Amino acid sequence: MGTIWQSLLANLALVSIFLVGWDIISDLARRTSRKVQDLLLGAVMAGGAIISMLLAMPIASGFIVDLRSAFIASAAFFGGWRAAAIATLCAIAFRLYLGGAGAWPGVTGILISAAVGLGYHYAIGGRRRKSVDILGLGAAVAAGSAIGFMLFPSHAGLEIFKQAGLPLLSFVFVSQIIIGVLLDRQWRRRELAEANLIFSAMVRELPDCLNVKDSQGRFIAANPATARFMRAGSVDALIGKTDFDFFPTDLAEKFRQDEVSTLERGETVRIDQPAVFPDERKGWIATLKAPFRDEAGRIVGIITYNRDVTEQRRAAQLKNEFISTVSHELRTPLTSIRGSLGLIAAGVTGALPPKAANLVKIAHTNSERLVHLINDILDMEKIESGKMVFQVTRTALRPVLEQAIAGSTNYMSEKQIRIALMDDAPRAEAVLDPDRLHQVLANLLSNAIKFSPDGETVILRLQRQPGRKLRISVIDRGSGIPDTFQDQIFEKFAQADASNTRSKGGTGLGLSIAKTIVEKLGGSLSFETGEGTGTAFHVDLLEAERPPRPEPAVIVRKRDNRLRVLICEDEADISAVLAMLLDAENFTSDVAPDIASAKTLLRTRDYVAMTLDIKLAGESGIELFRHIRASATNADIPVIVISAVADETRRSLNGSAIGIVDWLEKPVDPDRLHAALEKIVTRKLDRRPNILHVEDDEGVLTVMSEGLGPDVCISSARSLVQAQEAIALQRFDLVILDIGLPDGSGLDLLKDLPPETPVIVFSAVELDQNLGDRVRAIMTKTKTSELDVARLVKNLLPTFDIHIHATTPGE
Ligand code: ADP
Repeated sequence: MGTIWQSLLANLALVSIFLVGWDIISDLARRTSRKVQDLLLGAVMAGGAIISMLLAMPIASGFIVDLRSAFIASAAFFGGWRAAAIATLCAIAFRLYLGGAGAWPGVTGILISAAVGLGYHYAIGGRRRKSVDILGLGAAVAAGSAIGFMLFPSHAGLEIFKQAGLPLLSFVFVSQIIIGVLLDRQWRRRELAEANLIFSAMVRELPDCLNVKDSQGRFIAANPATARFMRAGSVDALIGKTDFDFFPTDLAEKFRQDEVSTLERGETVRIDQPAVFPDERKGWIATLKAPFRDEAGRIVGIITYNRDVTEQRRAAQLKNEFISTVSHELRTPLTSIRGSLGLIAAGVTGALPPKAANLVKIAHTNSERLVHLINDILDMEKIESGKMVFQVTRTALRPVLEQAIAGSTNYMSEKQIRIALMDDAPRAEAVLDPDRLHQVLANLLSNAIKFSPDGETVILRLQRQPGRKLRISVIDRGSGIPDTFQDQIFEKFAQADASNTRSKGGTGLGLSIAKTIVEKLGGSLSFETGEGTGTAFHVDLLEAERPPRPEPAVIVRKRDNRLRVLICEDEADISAVLAMLLDAENFTSDVAPDIASAKTLLRTRDYVAMTLDIKLAGESGIELFRHIRASATNADIPVIVISAVADETRRSLNGSAIGIVDWLEKPVDPDRLHAALEKIVTRKLDRRPNILHVEDDEGVLTVMSEGLGPDVCISSARSLVQAQEAIALQRFDLVILDIGLPDGSGLDLLKDLPPETPVIVFSAVELDQNLGDRVRAIMTKTKTSELDVARLVKNLLPTFDIHIHATTPGE
């Protein structure tokens, strides 16, 4: 046994000598090709195997133990087939030369080792070697040696294996691992040295500045370009210093801020900034700052990269200026072409033969498209060069919305599309540039019209949202935006369907411009869409602080409790005047430009009155009037008829004109409107108010219904589902809401109710959160009696005659 260990020690000494030798040889052969290196490795390993065989002592007659299998398997594993071939052939020749009973099994063992090493080499393929690969190789080579024993003639091998098998195999295994690990480390060191060489060359020769800084902003590494840019003399003079040692404090502070934000956010930032170069030349650099991490993933510093982009910027600017000049130059002649064609098309120069008229119309439409394209390009250029001027003032939004609608009439008429205005944020004001907002809305409206089916209504809605936000939504029922296109929609020249340019007109610039403008105004532009169901674009803006304003004396109501009037009027300027007059009387208004949208609005929202243009968009307002009177909801809505020929219409309506409060001639006289409105609010409605009581407790339901008495019409819902069914079927003047319902929270109902329906929360849970404008009171059961709730109901419904019935003793 001792022989084996002596042999192992001697062999290990041999391994060390060979590896040192290989290190020197491979270093000398560094510049040779991979093939030559493989052959050299094979030769060195063959030498190792031969000397190992020479050193080894026979442990049985003709049977020697040595490291040849480890050398040969290593040659194959690290050097591939060339190395394997050289090592194997030399080792076999030598073993045969030594002769003895073990010669042929020895040769077989050599072949097995080569096969194992090669198998592993190709199994790993291109991937990086891992420690377990070397362990695996050791095990495989040991197993190969065991097979070699079995091939010994006349059971001699089996005998030897029984005596010395385990130490022998351990010997092979350990020595294979030692050779494997040493060769692998050598390999890696060489790779690292080479990579270092490449990286330092890259960094040294790069004409741009590249630095690595620690988290405190101190240079850890830099390239000569940086040293020149910082006027530091040499790279070494930079190491350990910060920007503060080279730049004025304010500039260094700015650079540091960018770095700090990179470190904090852990993201790469890109900044274009003006710079003064070492030759005193002024220009621009593009800076990239990327955080870098240690092995544990912690950010430990920053890589900064600065490139001189002065030339690119200049070229881009030239290009933009060129486009801008061309566009400007094109705009003037084009405007006159469009104007002339417009006049000819309108028949100002006399009637044209039908064929010519058609051609002129085509030319006119196309000249409009060109004008549109040029305006978009000029806008884009202005935005990109930072030249777009924003004249920001405190602006009332309603007039901007009205003007945007009025301005969209060109597009609408061809497709018979109307725009309904829903104003749920009366008197909303924001600090912005009204012209730019107009431009954004005009674009969103034109898209909505373009993508709506003929005859549809587009809704323009203004709402208040939590956090002093205003949302302007443009809602269409068009085809929607395809999923695949949604993330590109705001990109320049993006169109879902390139054939749109021809079929629907447009440049794909509109939304990109709109988004930039909205963002410059401090807001955001987003959208919701469903394929086939339509699209809503939302412009979110911050509402201006509301200054305290004296409320008009006519009807004293809380601002957020304003009554809503529907204006049915197709002429935008008239509806704007009416809206203004109504606002002065403290009413909120929505505008329906045609019968279809009036019907939609009347079905879904609550109005105390409506104004009705008798000649509505070429349709008969009288027909709408009759429809309302015959329908289930709003049948008794008071109507103020507005007409160019009020008296005549009055006669034609005869006796069916119930509920018409007044007939006003255009232009509307503010005093008469005031009188009519006063009549409406002071007039007690002759129907009973519909109240929905959502409550699962029978007792509370009964007491409340007793308390409210017979002047109201109470419906009760005992669960959330029942309540949802009830509000889907009918509109309520008020809702009393319990929170803890058997199938959910009563608060879930809020989103399903029309925004103007007042709600009283009457619940056992104490709530102190703000539930928004529509929840007029939050009352806690036992703290407040049903009678108090009934009293509040009476106050909240001033247009109804309600007598409270005292059920509590003492009332
Ligand atoms: P364009 O001038 O082509 O209308 P935009 O930037 O305004 O340019 O719109 C880009 C594209 O976005 C349109 O071509 C269309 O594919 C899609 N898009 C915009 N608005 C809508 C909408 N309301 N419904 C469906 N698709 C829309």
